[in-house]
Amino acid sequence: MTALRFPLVCFDLDGTLVDDTIYIWKTLHEAFETDEPARRKAYDDFFGGIISYRDWFEHDLKLLRLAGATKKRVEELLRTLRPMEGAKEAIATLKARGHKVAIISGSLDIVVDHLFGQHLFDHVLINKLHYSPDGQIDGGEPTPYDLVGKAEGLRELARREGLSPDQVAFVGDNENDIWIAQAAGRAIAFNCKSDKLRELCHVEIKTKDLRLVLEHL
Ligand SMILES: [Mg+2]
Repeated sequence: MTALRFPLVCFDLDGTLVDDTIYIWKTLHEAFETDEPARRKAYDDFFGGIISYRDWFEHDLKLLRLAGATKKRVEELLRTLRPMEGAKEAIATLKARGHKVAIISGSLDIVVDHLFGQHLFDHVLINKLHYSPDGQIDGGEPTPYDLVGKAEGLRELARREGLSPDQVAFVGDNENDIWIAQAAGRAIAFNCKSDKLRELCHVEIKTKDLRLVLEHL
């Protein structure tokens, strides 16, 4: 058997493995009509370096809780999302070929649980949401691997697998994937909304069918 050029393939989640959402956070805020000025201020404060990612994460979960985003209602919303066309087939084919498959995302674990199940992946680096026993949002665990940190997530998984980052491929769709795309040995822009990401990826796939990534891996 020929050695794989990219033994580890990492995927972004929202907009890449999952259709119908660009960022799950935005989808949740809009669906539950959270406090828009408060949400905007936290966004600006995070990108302005005033608050940490953890502060931003906890703040936004609190806004969702205050707006009535219970476990039951969040699950109803998740039922409106679908896996990207070809996503499950692409993952199954990669695994059959012997690749390890991972998610590195600033989305939420509940999206993976609902649409795929964590068991489909060898590694999942993502924000974790906690519910209280009565079904209220009760904080969570923020991922250190979002935005700039996504690149560190790729390097961390490469270390765990005994690979160099150059042996890791990445598939993503948007601005928050710019850093990780630069860290990967092969970067594929898929369903892409960012000119900057498109420019620095090795390959762009415009048709929304994830099976099309297979020939580049
Ligand atoms: Mg995305």
